[in-house]
Amino acid sequence: MHAVGGQTAQRVVLVGAGQAAAACVEALRKRGHTGPIEMVGEESLAPYQRPPLSKKYLSGEMPLERLLLRQREFYDGHGVAMRLGRRAVVLDRAARRVTLDDGSALPYDALVIATGARPRRLALPGADLAGVHYLRGVSDADALRTDARPGTRAVIVGGGYIGLEVAATLRHLGVEVTVLEMADRVMGRVVAEPVSRWYEAQHAAHGVRIVLGARLHGLRGDAAGRVVAVGTSAGEIAADLVVVGIGVLPEDALARAAGLDCDNGIVVDERCRTADPAVFAIGDCTNHPSVHYGGRLRLESVDNAVEQGSTAASNLLGIEARHERVPWFWSDQYQHKLVIVGLSQGHDRTVLRGDPAGGAFSCCHLRAGELIAIDTINLAKDHLAARKLIPTRMRPDPAKLADASIALKDCA
Ligand code: FAD
Ligand code: NAP
Repeated sequence: MHAVGGQTAQRVVLVGAGQAAAACVEALRKRGHTGPIEMVGEESLAPYQRPPLSKKYLSGEMPLERLLLRQREFYDGHGVAMRLGRRAVVLDRAARRVTLDDGSALPYDALVIATGARPRRLALPGADLAGVHYLRGVSDADALRTDARPGTRAVIVGGGYIGLEVAATLRHLGVEVTVLEMADRVMGRVVAEPVSRWYEAQHAAHGVRIVLGARLHGLRGDAAGRVVAVGTSAGEIAADLVVVGIGVLPEDALARAAGLDCDNGIVVDERCRTADPAVFAIGDCTNHPSVHYGGRLRLESVDNAVEQGSTAASNLLGIEARHERVPWFWSDQYQHKLVIVGLSQGHDRTVLRGDPAGGAFSCCHLRAGELIAIDTINLAKDHLAARKLIPTRMRPDPAKLADASIALKDCA
C-alpha cells in the first residue's frame, strides 16, 4: 500500500496537540480523510490558542473555555482519538510506530510532528529560584497570575513579544514592572527603530521602567529559596517575581533522535514533508523554505502554524499544496495594535508613513525598491493592504509612500 500522498493514507498520528495540529486535523476531515486520526498531546487540554496567555487570559478577562480552539466534543464527533497528558518518547520510522510515555505504541501510515517550541532558559546563578516564571502554557500563565498581586514588583528579562505584552498586562493588574533588555532597543530584531522607540515611550507612560543594554549577573533568593533581587551591571533590582522571555527553541528532540534532519528546527520542504515520505512536520518546530523571500526560515506565529497545518493535510491526501504565504505577526500592548507583515531582514531603506506622535503610523521596509515588509501601529488599513500587496512584489514610489494620505495600493 502506498502510505501517504494519496487517499490511501490510512492511519494518521499527530504528535503535539497545539495550534498547528488542530489546523491539520480540521483540514484533513474537511478534505475528506476518513481514516483513523490520533492526536498525542503532552498537555492535558485539547488544543488551545496561546496568544491570550500574555494578554486577556493573564489579566483574568478571558476564561479558560475561550482559549480552546474547539471543544472536546468536536474531536469526538470527528473521530479524532485524543491521547492528552501523554508525551511521545520514541519514534521508530522503520516500524512506523510512535511510543508514548505510558508504554503504549501507536502505528501510523502518516505521522505529523507538531511539537512546537519551548522557552529558552536563563543560564544564570539563581535562575531556578521560586518566583522565576516562563510563559508557554496555561499552567505557566496561572502560576504567573497567582504571583502577580497588586503592588508586587516584577522584573521582566527580555524586551521581546513576551516581555512587553506581559509588562502591559502586569501594569493592568497593578504590578510594578521593570523590563531588562540586553540590546539598545526593544523588539530590535522585528521592528524598525521608530517603532521600538514609540513602544518604549508607551511603556514609560504606563509606568514601566525599561533598562536597555542591561547586563545580568544573577538572581538572589531569600532563605526560603524565593527570588528577591536581580543583579545587573548597574546594581541590584528588587523583585518579588521574575518573568523570563528570551526566545524559544524548536522542540525537535523526537525527530532528531529518529534520525530526521534538524537544523534550527525539523527540516521540511514547502509541502511540509521531511526526507521520510511518511513523516510531515508543521508549526514552530519546523525549518522550512520561504517561497517569497528565498532561503529557509523558522517562524513562530499562529498564522504559520495554521497555514502549515493546512498544507500538510493537503499533501498527505495527495492534493498538491505549497506553503508560500508571506508571514505576518501581531502584538497587542495596552490598547495598541502592532501588525508586522513580511520580513524586513536585508532592507536597504525604511520609509515612515504617518506621524508617530499621532499614535497611528507605519514603517515600510524596501529592498532594491521592492516593498518587503511593513510595521503598522494602529493602522489596520495599511496592514490589510500590505498583506495583499507584498506578495505581488510591489515597487512603491517612496515619495508617495511617505504621504499617509495616499492609500498604500495607490503608491506604486
Ligand atoms: P504549540 O502551540 O506550542 O503546540 C505544540 C504542542 O506539542 C504543545 O502542547 C506541546 O506540549 C506538545 N508537545 C511537544 N512535544 C511533545 C511530545 N513529544 N509528545 C506530545 N506532545 C508534545 N503568535 C502570534 O502569531 N500572535 C500572538 O499574539 C502570539 N502570542 C503568543 C503569546 C504567548 C504567551 C505564546 C507562548 C505564544 C504566542 N504566539 C503568538 C506564538 C504562537 O502561539 C505559536 O507560534 C503557536 O502556538 C505555534 O503552534 P504549534 O502548534 O507549532 O506549537
Ligand atoms: P522573542 O520575541 O524572540 O524576544 C526575546 C527577547 O529577549 C529579545 O528582545 C532578545 O533580545 C532578548 N534576549 C535574548 N536573550 C536574552 C538574554 N540572555 N538576556 C536578556 N534578554 C535576552 O521571544 P519571546 O518574547 O520570549 O517570545 C517567545 C515566543 O512566544 C516566541 O515564539 C514568540 O513569537 C511568541 N510570542 C509571540 C507573540 C506575538 O506574536 N505577539 C507574543 C508573545 C509570544 P535580542 O533580540 O537582542 O537577542
